[in-house]
Amino acid sequence: MIPRKWRTWLWMSLAAGLALVVLTVGPAMLHLVRVTWNDADQIEVLPPGYVDDVSRMNKTKVSEVWEIPLDEQAAEQQLRELLVKAQADGLRISIAGARHSMGGHTIYPGGVSINMLPFNRMKLNPSGTILHVQAGARWSEIIPYLEQHGRSVEVMQSDNSFTVGGSLSVNCHGWQYGRPPIASTVESFRLMKADGTIVRCSRGENKELFSLALGGYGLFGIILDVELRVVANERLRLEQYIVPVDGALASFERKILEKPDVRMVYARLNISPDKLFQEVIISMFFPDPSGEIPGLEEPGSMKLRRAVFRGSAASAYGKKLRWEAETKIQPLLAGSIFSRNQLLNESADWYLDRSMDSTDILHEYFIPRATAGSFLGEMRQIIPKHRGDVLNVTVRDINTDPDTFLRYADQPVSAFVLFFSQSRTPAADARMRDMTREMIDASIRHGGRYYLPYRLHATGDQLHRAYPQARSFFDLKRQHDPRETFQNQFYLRYGGQTVGDPE
Ligand SMILES: Cc1cc2nc3c(=O)[nH]c(=O)nc-3n(C[C@H](O)[C@H](O)[C@H](O)COP(=O)(O)OP(=O)(O)OC[C@H]3O[C@@H](n4cnc5c(N)ncnc54)[C@H](O)[C@@H]3O)c2cc1C
Repeated sequence: MIPRKWRTWLWMSLAAGLALVVLTVGPAMLHLVRVTWNDADQIEVLPPGYVDDVSRMNKTKVSEVWEIPLDEQAAEQQLRELLVKAQADGLRISIAGARHSMGGHTIYPGGVSINMLPFNRMKLNPSGTILHVQAGARWSEIIPYLEQHGRSVEVMQSDNSFTVGGSLSVNCHGWQYGRPPIASTVESFRLMKADGTIVRCSRGENKELFSLALGGYGLFGIILDVELRVVANERLRLEQYIVPVDGALASFERKILEKPDVRMVYARLNISPDKLFQEVIISMFFPDPSGEIPGLEEPGSMKLRRAVFRGSAASAYGKKLRWEAETKIQPLLAGSIFSRNQLLNESADWYLDRSMDSTDILHEYFIPRATAGSFLGEMRQIIPKHRGDVLNVTVRDINTDPDTFLRYADQPVSAFVLFFSQSRTPAADARMRDMTREMIDASIRHGGRYYLPYRLHATGDQLHRAYPQARSFFDLKRQHDPRETFQNQFYLRYGGQTVGDPE
C-alpha cells in the first residue's frame, strides 16, 4: 500500500505532467483540427466550353476542348486535319498537358484547346537507357512503369503531377543535384508543326527547332513523343542539418567536398515571421547500396502533413508549428532510407489549396551563386512589405543549360522557389503583381532571371531585360509559324509584333 503522502504527490505530478502536455500540445492540436475542419474541397467544376489552369485565376471561354485520340495513327491524322482547318479558318490553337502552368500558357480566348493527357503510352528500350514516351504521359504514370524495370527519371520537377510535354515545354528542373534542366536528358522528340508536317528534332537534326521547342511554351508545334534518357533507381540515405542562413553556403560546400556523390539536394528556409529566412534545413540524399531498394508505396500520414502545411497559411503560429514539425518530428517519422523513385513519386495534390476564396501561386528566381545571399536579403524586405503570405521557400542548385534558346540557366544558378497563398480577388492579385515586379527587378539586379510559367505579372520591359533573347525567340516563332496558329496568353501578352512593352 502506497502511503497517503506519496499518493498525493504522485497524483499532483501526474496532473502537472498532463497540464504541461495539454499546454504545449493542446494549441497545436486545436490549430490542426480547425484547419482540417475548414479545409473543404470547393474546386469549381468548369461549365462546358471553359478552361482554366491550376492557378484558378484564368477561367476562359474557348471554342472547343479537343481530346487527342489514344491511337497514335488516329491522333496524328486528326491533329493534321485540325491544323489544316485552323490555318484555313484563322483558328488559334493552344496545347495543354496537366495545366500546372499559371499564366494561361495552355489557353487562348476563343481558341481550340488540345488536351494531351490521353496520349500517354511508353516503352523502355532493351538496354533500359532510353524511354520512348508520348507527350501526354504524366510522371505519376512513368515512375511506376520505370520502377518495374529498376529505372528512374533523370531530371524532373519536385512532384509527379506533370506531363512530359508540359515539362519539356517549360524546360523544367528539379532537385537532382548539379544537373541542368530536363532538356539535357532529351535525346530527341517528334514535333508536329503548324502545317501538319512531323519532324524529328535532336542535337543533330532540326537543331534550331530542338532548342526552340524545349522551353518553347507550345509556340512552335505539338511535341508528340520523346526519347528521354533514364537512370538507375537507387537506394538513398538522407542526411539533414539545420544551419543559420548566413553560413549555409559555406557549410554546404564543405559537405559537398567531403561527399561529392550526392544525388538530390534541397534547402528549405524557415518562414516563421520572427525568423524569416534566417535558418535553413538542408536535405541531402546519398547513394547507400548496403541494402534492398525500398519498393514504391503510397506515402503515409498525408492528412496530417496537409493539415500542418495548410495550417501555415495566414497564420504566424501555423508557420512556426510547421517549422517545428518538419525539422523535429517529420525526420523521426519518415526515416532516412528512400528509393529515388519514392522521392520523385510525390503528387502536388496533397498540399494544394482547394478552397473557393484563396489559391496557391508559385514564383521562382534563378540567381548566380555569388549574389544569391544578397538576393535573399532583398526578398526578406520585399515580401513582408507587400504582406505576401509565403508558405514555402526551397533553394535548389541548377547547372548551365546549353540546349534551349529561351534558357533561364545560362550559368550555374541557385533557384529560389517560393510558394504563396493569395485571395482570388482582383485586389489581392494587384498586390501580388506589385510584389512580383519588385522581386523580378531584384532578381535582374542580381544578374538573375525569373521563371516564365507562372502568373504574367512581369512587364514587357522586365521580360526583355531578364531574357534579352526573347525578341529573337518571338521572331523565330513567326518564321516557323507564320500564321501564328499556336498561341496562348503568354504569347498574347509578350510576343506579338505590335506589342512593345505591355504594362
Ligand atoms: C505545384 C507546382 C509545382 C511545380 N514544381 C515545379 C518544379 O519543381 N520545377 C519546375 O521546373 N517547374 C515546376 N512547376 C511549374 C510548371 O508549370 C511545370 O514544370 C510544368 O509546366 C508542368 O507541366 P504541365 O503538364 O502541367 O504543363 P502545362 O501547364 O499543361 O503546359 C505548360 C506549357 O507547355 C505547353 N505544352 C504542354 N504540352 C505540350 C506538348 N505536347 N507540345 C508542345 N507544348 C506543350 C503548353 O502549351 C504550355 O505552354 C510547378 C508548378 C506547380 C503548380
